[in-house]
Amino acid sequence: MALVPVTEGRVGWFKSDSDSVVKVALLGSTGSIGKATLEVVQKFPERFKVVALSAGSNSELLEQQIAAFAPQYCYLEDPVKRKELINSETLKSSNTQLFNSEEQLLALLRAGGADLVVAAVVGFAGLPGVVAAIEGGALVALANKESLVSAGQLISDLLKKHKSALIPVDSEHSAIFQALQGERLDDISELVVTASGGPFRTLAAAEFAAITPAQALKHPTWTMGPKITIDSASMVNKALELAEAHWLFGVATKAISVLVHPQSIIHSLVNFSDGSAIAQLGVPDMKVPIAYALNYPLGRLPGIASRLNLATLGTLEFFPLDNVKFRAPKLMLSCLDCGGVASAVFTITNDIAVKAFLEQKITFDRIIGMIEVALERYSGLKYSSLSDLLSLRDTIYAELTV
Ligand code: NDP
Ligand code: MG
Repeated sequence: MALVPVTEGRVGWFKSDSDSVVKVALLGSTGSIGKATLEVVQKFPERFKVVALSAGSNSELLEQQIAAFAPQYCYLEDPVKRKELINSETLKSSNTQLFNSEEQLLALLRAGGADLVVAAVVGFAGLPGVVAAIEGGALVALANKESLVSAGQLISDLLKKHKSALIPVDSEHSAIFQALQGERLDDISELVVTASGGPFRTLAAAEFAAITPAQALKHPTWTMGPKITIDSASMVNKALELAEAHWLFGVATKAISVLVHPQSIIHSLVNFSDGSAIAQLGVPDMKVPIAYALNYPLGRLPGIASRLNLATLGTLEFFPLDNVKFRAPKLMLSCLDCGGVASAVFTITNDIAVKAFLEQKITFDRIIGMIEVALERYSGLKYSSLSDLLSLRDTIYAELTV
């Protein structure tokens, strides 16, 4: 396989060979991104072969996916469900090996068992898989932004060391990546990350404490898993995406901004030094950035989503972000300035807070409040390895779980 340069940036170098079938490992196959990825893969069997699937606890869906895609390997995090799966007829009659520890899955990735790893586990839990995939020299189609936000420096160093690359799946970052094709990173003057504004864009901050999980789970434009839907409502998602853009494209935080665009048609844009702006548009459908990442750099896969019709849309709106009502994006910028573990503390605590909110143990406004408290307590710490970050996670879970 040849190594082909794509941009000068950290999105970097990767393997490409149009004649070979791409061996895909899909981490988080039962989730919103996981299912959409398999829809794309299923349409192009001559291009993609699923070699490994992993999930958290949804053994029923994983079983169906094993029957449909016949991967060589699979893994389920929940030990009780894993036992059920091992005794299922589907697994017994398949050639799929069920790993009995996460370490076995990570070892497969480290050994280069996949050409392309789709990182679609939700939350900080996705980090070990991303690190192992990079160590194995795979291309990583990155949906799991929490890993890059938590361990940006570590991941950047590993990408260089192992000649691996990240291809963004997140729609905003895919838009920026698409807008940057053929461009020089030196010509960028600003990355503009668009945001729908979520369901509470026009709600007064005084009402935030009364928001219910059901209200927060209703996203105006995207259908996604529960955690990122809550993150979108709290604008924590946009905070994570600022950090994600910083690490993916190597652009300073002062040159990255947020633009509220309720229709989610412009997925993000790049302003260049000559005054030009290049944006990527499309109907809000995650299969488009997924397909672009899966097939990169071999062009676009046909028939992924319906065509955009701007005449029927009529109006596209844009607003500045209300940084007083939504404190998360500014807080993330201060985490990036602070360095060390600050953005990992932000991410880990948000995982805990979102779960607590969904279980109705804390109110919506406490999500950002918990992150602020955790940052005061832990953000001075430094890390130098994945195991330092895993220990930090254990400490925060032990001390802050509600
Ligand atoms: P979902 O909650 O729908 O799916 C999460 C997946 O991760 C499921 O397969 C789940 O398994 C699995 N999982 C959860 N915990 C673990 C664990 N400890 N070990 C192994 N697997 C685990 O999330 P989404 O698909 O919405 O999001 C996935 C990632 O993609 C997130 O990082 C999100 O921010 C990002 N993203 C998502 C977008 C979207 O449109 N959904 C858009 C842009 C980014 P199980 O189902 O069995 O619990
Ligand atoms: Mg996004």
